[in-house]
This record gives sequence, structure tokens and C-alpha cells, in this order.
Amino acid sequence: MSAWEPVIGLEVHVELDTETKMFCACAVTKGDPPNTHTCPVCLAHPGALPVINQRAVEYAARIALALNCTVRPVSVFHRKNYFYPDLPKAYQISQYDQPLAVEGRFDYWVGDEVLSCRINRVHMEEDAAKLIHAGGESGRIAGSDYSMVDFNRGGTPLIEIVGEPDIPSPEAAREFLQQLRSLVIGLGVSECNMEEGQIRWDANISLRAAGSDELGTRTELKNMNSFRFLQQALESEIPRQVAVLEAGGTIDQETLHFDPETGATSPLRSKEEAHDYRYFPEPDLVPVVTEPPWVEKIAATQPELPAARMARFMAQYGLSRYDAGVLGGGTAMARFYEDVVAEGVDAKLAANWTMGEYLAHLNESGLEPGRGHVTAGRLAALVRLVQDGTISGTAAKQVFALMVEERGEPAAIVEQHGLAQVSDAGELENVVARVLADNPGQVEQYRAGKEQLVGYFVGQVMKATQGKANPKLVSELVSKALKG
Ligand SMILES: [Zn+2]
Repeated sequence: MSAWEPVIGLEVHVELDTETKMFCACAVTKGDPPNTHTCPVCLAHPGALPVINQRAVEYAARIALALNCTVRPVSVFHRKNYFYPDLPKAYQISQYDQPLAVEGRFDYWVGDEVLSCRINRVHMEEDAAKLIHAGGESGRIAGSDYSMVDFNRGGTPLIEIVGEPDIPSPEAAREFLQQLRSLVIGLGVSECNMEEGQIRWDANISLRAAGSDELGTRTELKNMNSFRFLQQALESEIPRQVAVLEAGGTIDQETLHFDPETGATSPLRSKEEAHDYRYFPEPDLVPVVTEPPWVEKIAATQPELPAARMARFMAQYGLSRYDAGVLGGGTAMARFYEDVVAEGVDAKLAANWTMGEYLAHLNESGLEPGRGHVTAGRLAALVRLVQDGTISGTAAKQVFALMVEERGEPAAIVEQHGLAQVSDAGELENVVARVLADNPGQVEQYRAGKEQLVGYFVGQVMKATQGKANPKLVSELVSKALKG
């Protein structure tokens, strides 16, 4: 393996959450009955004319600027001609040699390392309609009895982000996409819903001799929308290419299909691969002119981006890189964590509880951060109870479970279930005395020099108090009693 290194490139499509479509006033919706949001423009009736959605241009510029691209002063829409039932015009309005933005860079974390990927371009286009292949088992066109088309999606603003082949591993490809998705969500321009296919990508992969600058022949994986499958597909494609190259063969440039069941890639029937889209400028649209003051205004009103927020979390709250990534990588989680800290509790303790019990609760319930009845205020109240010693860490975990179950306030739960920590020295001294009296053998051994038995006695006291004793105080009292 080490003689070869993988080179991976990604092209990512993102549907924008604008109110209306790219070139008409139809609403952009999800889940509405099929073909209820259509008009002569997005159904390509003769004589209908497109009008550019300004909000979509703004959103595209936000993505481009967040990817450190240069927004070009003039960009041009082209017609990309091809015939398919999901495209009523028989061409897609897209951008070609004069895209909205070029020459960017996306920095992303892989483990403790920041990797950088050049962004070739960000351009605007419209999404195709949605095809549903019915009657077959797989939902794919092969084997289906008939196909239906839903034009609600046709004409939705779509952004294509074209990355350069700078990604060195399948893991890095997954990180790139997950962090790019967080970035786009953070910009507030798309929810990037995976199931709805709001974000999807093509990956290309080739191998080159380690240390060489020359790229090998690449294969492609098209239209994916699962991070896990992408990583698995790339992981299975690398040894396949290595085997071909080591046997003296050559890689065919082809599109592959990944089968999650077998974990292997296989070539798709090579259809019209040598596309001739006969691009020409869209005669019904004027060029998009983006004046510098407009671009500057967009740049000045960008929200805080995940990378900057992670750096701020490390500096402001003293979090590790990893913790800052978990808590600061996504907007909703970051907001929740900062809401907890805003209640005046210790930031590090708040981080531990947010990443521990709270995150596990989200994973279990499928809730988004901030949703559900474990509010930031309630989690902060729990953290405060731990911080001021009212409850032990162990009891706090019980309290959290009861907060989920009973939907209550932590203080009331502690009260109701008698979970408060016993810090009354007088009360605990009695328990310590009883434990010592019950274990004369161990006391003798301790006095004979076996000092590590302190831990044993502390354990017995904790057990006798059902874990509610303040462990620090117990430790002090046990030491005192044994010496006395
Ligand atoms: Zn329309």
C-alpha cells in the first residue's frame, strides 16, 4: 500500500433554502404533494422567461466567501443541454466558464491536524425534478415497471462546489464533507438535510506513486449522500486500484457503483460518458453583476463560521481542540453549550456534561441540540448542583436520567429522590465509626502499615450511604478515625 497514495477530489451539490425557486416564483418546499409547485417557467412552457432569484445569488456568495473564494464581478449563466425526463427544458441553466466564484480554500480538521483543500469554483444552477422509479425492488430505474416525475424540486436553487483533488484519505474525505456541511448549515443558507438529498456529492479517486506529483487515472462515485458509504466506497476502491496497478494493468476512467451490502464497488454500465453538453450562454438572462460594495456587505454580515468558533471556544472556555470541535462544530450545539455557560456555571464542567450525558441523550432520542425538555437552563442547574457539592457526580448521572424520564427540574428531582450529597460531618462520623467497628481485621492491618486500606473504608462508607456521602469529606473522616 505504501508505494501508492490516494488522491481524492469532491464535487458537492447543495440545495439552497430560499423561499422561491432559482428562476421563478414557485415556492421551494419539502414533502408537499407532487407537482403542486410548478409554473410555465419551471415546466418550460414555450415563451416563459426565467428571472434570477437575488437571494439565491446572495446565499451562493455567502458559501463562496466562507470558502475563501473570489467572487467575480461578472458571471454568466449557460445552457447545459441534455435530454432526460427530469429536465423539461432539455437543458439545465447552469454556469460554465464564467462561474460566480473561483480560487478558494477550505481548511478542515482530521484528528489534530488541519488540512487544506483548494476550491476550484463555486457556481449556481437549478436542480432537476425528482424521478421516482416504481414497481421494482431497488427503487432504481433498472427493474422498475414505470417512473413518475415530481416537478416540485425542478428549478430549486442549487450550488456546486468543485474541490481540487487535494484530499489524501477516505477519512479525510468524510471529515471534509461533514465539516463543509456544518459550514453551510452555519451560514443559514441550507439545512443540508441528508435524507432529502439537500446535500450530495460526486467523489473521484486515483492513485499515484508515493511522492509523485503526477495524477493517475481516476474513477468516480456519483450522487452519494451518506458519509459512511462514501468512506467505505473509497476504502474498498483503493486496494482494488492498487491490485490493478501492481499487476501491471491500467485503471479505466469509469463511474462506479458502491453496494453497501457487499462493501464493494463495481462499474456502472458505461452510458453516454463522453458528454457533449453544447454549452452556450443563456440568451434569456443577463450576466450577473456583483458590485464590490454588495460583496463587501455580504462579507461583513457573515455569521461566525465553525472554524472561527472552535478557535474562540478553545481560547474563551479553555476547551481542548477535540471538545471545541464537538461543541463548536455545529451551530445548534454551539448555541446550546453557550446558553448553558451563560447561566454562570463552570465552562469546563458544562462542556463535560454537554458532551457526556446530554450528547448521549440526543443520540438516543434523535433530538437536535436545544430541542426537548432538557433545556440549557436545566442542564446548567444540574451542573451547578455538582459544582457546589450538593450532589456527587454519580448522583448527578441519576438525576440526569430522571430529568429525561420525569421531565422535571434537577433541584426538585434531587429533593424528591433524596439524592443530595451528605456533607454533614456529624452524620458521616457515625457511619465511619460503624464501618470501622464492623471491620476490625482491616483496621488492624491498616495500623500494621497497610495504609492503602483507606480506600477500602471509604468504599464501605459510600456503600453504606448509597453513594450519597461527600467522598472528599469521607476520606478525611476515615483517615482521622483510623489515626485516632
Ligand atoms: Zn415555477
